[in-house]
Amino acid sequence: MNHNIPYGKQDITQDDIDAIASVLKSDFITQGPVTKAFEEDFAAYIGSKYAIAVANGTAALHLSALALDVKEGQTIITSPLTFAASANCIRFCGGSVQFVDIDPATLCIDLNQVEDQLKKDRKSKYKGVIPVDLAGYPVDTEALRSLTDQYGLWILEDSCHAPGACFTDSKGVNQNCGNGIYSDLSIFSFHPVKHITTGEGGMITTNDSDKAKRIKRLRIHGVTKDPDLLIENHGGWYYEMQELGYNYRITDFQCALGISQLKRAGKSLNRRKEIAKKYTEVFQEYDFIKIPETRPGMSHAWHLYIIQVPDRKNLYDYLQLNHINTQVHYIPVHLQPYYKKLGWKKGDFPYVEKYYEHCLSIPMYSSLSEEQQSYTIRKILEFYK
Ligand SMILES: *Cc1c(COP(=O)(O)O)cnc(C)c1O
Repeated sequence: MNHNIPYGKQDITQDDIDAIASVLKSDFITQGPVTKAFEEDFAAYIGSKYAIAVANGTAALHLSALALDVKEGQTIITSPLTFAASANCIRFCGGSVQFVDIDPATLCIDLNQVEDQLKKDRKSKYKGVIPVDLAGYPVDTEALRSLTDQYGLWILEDSCHAPGACFTDSKGVNQNCGNGIYSDLSIFSFHPVKHITTGEGGMITTNDSDKAKRIKRLRIHGVTKDPDLLIENHGGWYYEMQELGYNYRITDFQCALGISQLKRAGKSLNRRKEIAKKYTEVFQEYDFIKIPETRPGMSHAWHLYIIQVPDRKNLYDYLQLNHINTQVHYIPVHLQPYYKKLGWKKGDFPYVEKYYEHCLSIPMYSSLSEEQQSYTIRKILEFYK
């Protein structure tokens, strides 16, 4: 292999490029009609009532935390196994983060430990939970909802890894991650390593119309021009900045890419499933390679294929030498220097810390060829010979 094989990669076609070019030649290039069309298509794909497109996934988390009124004095529960932004959005708003360890099987936040945490502290301490559909494994938000309802907590689901993932609920209905049935808000990212890309980009999905309206206002500086919402009205030019917001707009040419990518989302998800199946078929024969959990009723979106192996560091280096760029998802967030300064330390969460010693994300993206996958498998097995 001459070229490096990354762990994740975008897939851009000529149709994608044509779609972007046609917007660049039109009257609107930043947030306009194509952004609205992308939001509608995305809501239809996920099955939510509303979708709001923003500059990136982190902006989606920040606006969600604002719309949920996170503020100083509040504590929010999240997983230490995620990209730091899932926890950072709480800090952006002045809230405190309570990490709760993972279930070592699913790698998502352990709902039993969430319950223990809620029972341990006074009832009003916690305001919400931010679960993460890690690697594309759907969190059982039905179970989480019945728990959070007892304590009056909201759910903000970080579904960045899980567009197209779903679980079968207790009524036998398939619930897509982000469809707004059990979670108050869900967020997605369109960074190039994610399922679909807009370069940089993000989305918030919800079935709550008030929160959707508020997020739209916060996305543009807290400004509204809606005549029904204005406090005064001086004429056609008039707008009001009703609260402190941000500029988290996405551009129409990025959304043109998103619409074009979304057309292939089902097909590329199937390709990810095929790749996962092949890895699993091979690696399940080797008991020193721990493969990802799959369960009936849990439809995985395979953003990442994470194996847990002995001697991970040397395997990483060996694959690197052979032009296979693997990754580690993630360094536990509570062990980042910023969070350590806030009081978290090694030993706080034994399951995620043990997982971190062994995990490795191997190449997984829709344009990974059969030849590249076979080569990757061969090199991994060669290392352990
Ligand atoms: C990618 C990602 C984010 C942040 O998305 P950006 O678009 O990079 O800001 C947040 N959470 C998780 C789990 C992610 O994978």
